[in-house]
Amino acid sequence: MSACIFCRIVAGEAPCHGVYEDETVLAFMDIAPVGDGHLLVIPKRHYENLLEADEASMLAVMAVSRRLAHALKRALTPDGIGVHQLNGAAAGQTVFHYHMHLIPRKHGDPIAVHGRTAGDPARLAENARRITAALRAAD
Ligand code: AMP
Ligand code: ZN
Repeated sequence: MSACIFCRIVAGEAPCHGVYEDETVLAFMDIAPVGDGHLLVIPKRHYENLLEADEASMLAVMAVSRRLAHALKRALTPDGIGVHQLNGAAAGQTVFHYHMHLIPRKHGDPIAVHGRTAGDPARLAENARRITAALRAAD
């Protein structure tokens, strides 16, 4: 079993509230959201960070992130969406499998990338359902 929690999610060995999957990319709800609807978009292949990742995976993550940003906007009507990506512990990275954060923000929300407490599982599931529906409606 992989020691990397995101590889375990990709392998189906750990749970997630998934919103999108293709051959290259997986997207799911951040377990400790800092904004309602906080998403993570990852390549299925393990790369520690941006400096290790191959260009095709990065382009695929970016293209999916753009589609998900539109879906987030439709599903949850945030005032803005933060896109964050941290490389190395010194930059604040805590899970060493490349990932993009998409963080919906309302006016006045504090700017943060990490949550301190796990989100309500029912709310995470509901957001995943709404974002997935908004994504499908756009196809
Ligand atoms: P970073 O500091 O950019 O590496 O952020 C890692 C993010 O992964 C944090 O926002 C965590 O809340 C999130 N996270 C950690 N474990 C899980 C998990 N099992 N499922 C979903 N999100 C997770
Ligand atoms: Zn991994």
